[in-house]
Amino acid sequence: MKKVFATIITIGDELLIGQVIDTNSAWIAQELNKIGVPVKHRVAVGDVYEDIWNTLDEESKQADIILITGGLGPTADDITKPLLCEYFGGKMIMHQPTLDYITDLFENILKRPMIDRNRKQAEVPDVCTVLKNERGTAPGMLFEKNGKIFVALPGVPHEMKWIMSNHVLNIITQKFNTGFIEHRTLLTAGVGESFLAEMIKDFETTIPSHIKLAYLPNYGMVRLRLTGFSNDKKTLIHEIDTLFYTLKNLVKEFLVIDEDIPMEVVIGKLLNERKQTIATAESCTGGYIAHLLTSIPGSSSYYEGSVISYSYAVKENVLKVQNKTLNTAGAVSEETVKEMVMNVMQIMNTDYAIAVSGIMGPGGETAEKPIGTAWVAVASKNNIITQKFHFRFDRARNIQLTATNALNLMRQLIVDNR
Ligand code: ATP
Ligand code: MG
Repeated sequence: MKKVFATIITIGDELLIGQVIDTNSAWIAQELNKIGVPVKHRVAVGDVYEDIWNTLDEESKQADIILITGGLGPTADDITKPLLCEYFGGKMIMHQPTLDYITDLFENILKRPMIDRNRKQAEVPDVCTVLKNERGTAPGMLFEKNGKIFVALPGVPHEMKWIMSNHVLNIITQKFNTGFIEHRTLLTAGVGESFLAEMIKDFETTIPSHIKLAYLPNYGMVRLRLTGFSNDKKTLIHEIDTLFYTLKNLVKEFLVIDEDIPMEVVIGKLLNERKQTIATAESCTGGYIAHLLTSIPGSSSYYEGSVISYSYAVKENVLKVQNKTLNTAGAVSEETVKEMVMNVMQIMNTDYAIAVSGIMGPGGETAEKPIGTAWVAVASKNNIITQKFHFRFDRARNIQLTATNALNLMRQLIVDNR
């Protein structure tokens, strides 16, 4: 059976100057992936007639499904619609159902006068199938040519998503025999990717060609992902599960979790299972750990709160770190994070706590404490672990690394505490 490929073309000058980050193609790629359609290319192109035209020519040589976002709107820079009309040899006509929908929208919902530009949104090439957009005024358009489909969608992400979810994904699964993609992902911590590669080099040679292994390093942790393609779902699942089982065993010393979830979700799961709670005391991360923990829905059942003890005064007055400790050992020290963690755990009456203090840069370093020095303490009622880290990056990345490493240390303590 012939394999089907997709290409995603995002249109707009704003994408090329980095003013808008292209989240549309990432989202579309994820959705295609779920239905077993691999993406061949992702192309961003400016609002330039010839460029868009040439991109359509080029990409349709290699892909069967061409998904386009952006440039459908009512302004002069939106040239996608007339271009597609010409490309597929049609002429513009008024699409009555869309006009009725837009008219109703303006009269009864928006209660604003409808101007000519809005009316123009209902004009479409007569060679397309209109895909209704219940989230906005620019409808999606489907074109077919030589067994390939071209879909044009608005650039506004929630409008694009609505049309994809309500029309396009169904059309693709009905029209193409898409096959299956299966992923298995695990997360490791405390080991670099080259070391991991050494550990599993013999295993790698046993992987069949329709299954791929990917290394995805991020914030000092490495994700390993197996991805398999096949038309035979049952066999594929069996093969990939067997390989995944072997892989997990090979890296078990460094294994955090055998799912594709971030560390804060892992912590949440562990605490929920144990019906236990946690608090944080953050100096150098300024609440970032609290933010990560609270970005998980349901975190209120295990997360109590944080003291952002950025200054000496707050460390002393709110967290009750001893003046002597701060003046002798300093704010960035094992002694200080130990007091921070024990005191916040007591103040907030939780089962666990995390405390961090460090120098994130630029500036603020001393001879013994260079930029990137971070002390982390994690504690339970009867245990405390501290660790000193040296990160070598810019401020933002040092903060992220401090946070994820603190969460990982916390995870280890929770797991060992059972
Ligand atoms: P509308 O008819 O609703 O104006 P449109 O098709 O004209 O839609 P554009 O004018 O290209 O869409 O883009 C509208 C907005 O959508 C942009 O200002 C931008 O914020 C967002 N957008 C466009 N393309 C993308 C993209 N690839 N990823 C994320 N956001 C995007
Ligand atoms: Mg627009």
